[in-house]
Amino acid sequence: MSAIPQERRLVTAIPGPKSQELQARRLGAVAGGVGSVLPVFAARANGGIIEDVDGNRLIDFGSGIAVTSVGSSAEAVVRRASAQLAEFTHTCFMVTPYEGYVEVCERLAELTPGDHAKKSALFNSGAEAVENAVKIARAYTKRQAVVVFDHGYHGRTNLTMALTAKNMPYKNGFGPFAPEIYRVPVAYGYRWPTGAENAGAEASAQAIDMIVKQIGAENVAAIIIEPVLGEGGFIEPAKGFLPAISKFATDNGIVFVADEIQSGFCRTGQWFACEDENVVPDLITTAKGIAGGLPLAAVTGRAKMMDAPHSGGLGGTYGGNPVACAAALGAIETMKELDLNAKAKRIEEVMKARLTAIQEKYDIVGDIRGRGAMIAIELVKSGTKDPNPEATGALAKACHAEGLLVLTCGTYGNVLRFLPPLVIGEDLLNEGMDIIEAAFARV
Ligand SMILES: *Cc1c(COP(=O)(O)O)cnc(C)c1O
Repeated sequence: MSAIPQERRLVTAIPGPKSQELQARRLGAVAGGVGSVLPVFAARANGGIIEDVDGNRLIDFGSGIAVTSVGSSAEAVVRRASAQLAEFTHTCFMVTPYEGYVEVCERLAELTPGDHAKKSALFNSGAEAVENAVKIARAYTKRQAVVVFDHGYHGRTNLTMALTAKNMPYKNGFGPFAPEIYRVPVAYGYRWPTGAENAGAEASAQAIDMIVKQIGAENVAAIIIEPVLGEGGFIEPAKGFLPAISKFATDNGIVFVADEIQSGFCRTGQWFACEDENVVPDLITTAKGIAGGLPLAAVTGRAKMMDAPHSGGLGGTYGGNPVACAAALGAIETMKELDLNAKAKRIEEVMKARLTAIQEKYDIVGDIRGRGAMIAIELVKSGTKDPNPEATGALAKACHAEGLLVLTCGTYGNVLRFLPPLVIGEDLLNEGMDIIEAAFARV
């Protein structure tokens, strides 16, 4: 574990000269389609700090997109992954299995909502988990249609591009997309025409009506939703929406899939965000926070559904790699030992108080939302609800220049999102909020 002082430090401009040199090499060697939020090259990272190749120390409000919730070099992750690395790196679970894979599946059965019999299958990326959830749901129901939601994000592979709502940058020019995917409204409280208080009931009624009238419930294999929508703008579906959709799925023999890839593993102050309204999904997809930064993903769900595909129908060369499994066991151990659900709730308290104070001064803050350490503000033009992507971009840039890494998101590109590692110290958290406040004063 690198013992990096948990202090912001700027010794050069951002990005510094060594980062600029590396960026020039990168432009010559790395495909242009792969972007970066901030071309600062990392040297070490831990806790709430990323140290770059020029010796700058940035405060991390991104966690590599909600991945390093336990930090970027958490002790238990490094210890367990290193030990496994020295034993063996790979056998392929489909050739000769190993204990770590089984143990991760056992932990997933314990930690995910519901006390029914559960099984899991492991994969490498979130998109791969979502694709496999669709395969499982189709095999179980012997139906084809898949229902997804406005503002939803599920990945960049062909099937998950089709499931994802937003064209740029995810889909543009990359079609044709997979068939039998249908998109219905989500209860986006801030932008719901008759107000947030009506969004849950009205949006669920509209979504269900569309499913029944346009697809036929009896043709639907799966309904897939993020319990808190991530890339679409940290949208928490208004109260009542998730339970209504989940009940409709159950009543109609449809597999209800919670995509908890971004919202899972303590991120929202609970093991899984769907627990907030006591929704018990049939299948749950996880990735990002699961393994402290190593590539691992899972589908976990009702045993009878998980067992529906024929033997050999699920898998992949690397799925559930032993080093990634060891890292996951280390990450889960850390989450329990440090009670990272409580930490996430404390981060919400601090951030929301600070953001409310900012909103009182600046009327371009249209909405403050999110739960735990998955918090965002939606920026609008003064006195309207018109999206303000220009201010969003300018604020992010101003934060980056001061050594605070923040990310943006949202269908309209007007959401500033905050995903600090759950282990971040409260002084760094407050310093980050000071930088955000100062950025507002400047922009
Ligand atoms: C990131 C994400 C994915 C895709 O995960 P990858 O590991 O990037 O393939 C899918 N669903 C949600 C909700 C995500 O946030």
